[in-house]
Amino acid sequence: MRDFSPDHRWLSLNTATVRRQGDLAQIVEACARHGIRAIDPWRDQVAAIGLDRAVRIVRDAGLELSGYCRGGMFTSDAAHRSEVRDDNRRAVDEAKALGAPCVVLVVGGLPQFSRPGSAPSKDIAAARAQVDDAIADMLDYASQANMPLAIEPLHPAYAADRACVNTTGQALDICDRLDPQRSGLLGVALDVYHIWWDPELMPQIARAGKDRLLAFHVCDWLVPTEDILNDRGMMGDGVIDIRSIRAAVEAQDFAGFCEIEIFSNAWWDRPMDDVLRTCIERHRTVV
Ligand code: ZN
Repeated sequence: MRDFSPDHRWLSLNTATVRRQGDLAQIVEACARHGIRAIDPWRDQVAAIGLDRAVRIVRDAGLELSGYCRGGMFTSDAAHRSEVRDDNRRAVDEAKALGAPCVVLVVGGLPQFSRPGSAPSKDIAAARAQVDDAIADMLDYASQANMPLAIEPLHPAYAADRACVNTTGQALDICDRLDPQRSGLLGVALDVYHIWWDPELMPQIARAGKDRLLAFHVCDWLVPTEDILNDRGMMGDGVIDIRSIRAAVEAQDFAGFCEIEIFSNAWWDRPMDDVLRTCIERHRTVV
């Protein structure tokens, strides 16, 4: 297992962590100030400053990417299906332009929440079937661009509105169905916030293996959690045994960035430099 204590060379910042403190250009500047060498930007942050400018500032700062957030939200009614497909193809194109190693997929829950305006449904099995079909379609497009897709299983609390893929095993079942040859173009983004509770986690990480482990996200689970979306904890402030999960991922030879992704009203209220200093300190001591 890698020793993170001497430096933070394997720290990547998911830019949502400080999205209220500045735009993508300001976040990139702050990363340079703090010696952070990788980010995972969000599409809305890229769009806000323009793709060309985003590409330029990332390149000029010498930053790497650990992913691109995000594609997916595949579930919709029939009327929205082509819009969903085109939107996801654009995500692949943007990721390619930015030099991302993968597009992170949050697959969508029930259609009326994933793609507002879609006819309401309570059929989660149908949503899951639709996710399979849509990933297969996106994989065709992404393969031509040689852009890997990383399915992020989300905690079951998000099954209705964000993702009906809720366990690592379920995400790997999709990978095995659509990419049995393990091409490296389809895998998982494992976020400790979503997966830490799963009794099947450790065997599923072993099942994933190096070629399916495309991204690793960290934060912490606070008790109590006041807001399921925007009350994630800073690493070390909650109950997740982050180091054991990282050890399991690295036992499969995962050697990528350890990406900090914290959606938190509390941390969004703090100055950007404070947040980044704390991220670095916790990366070295508890991740
Ligand atoms: Zn994540």
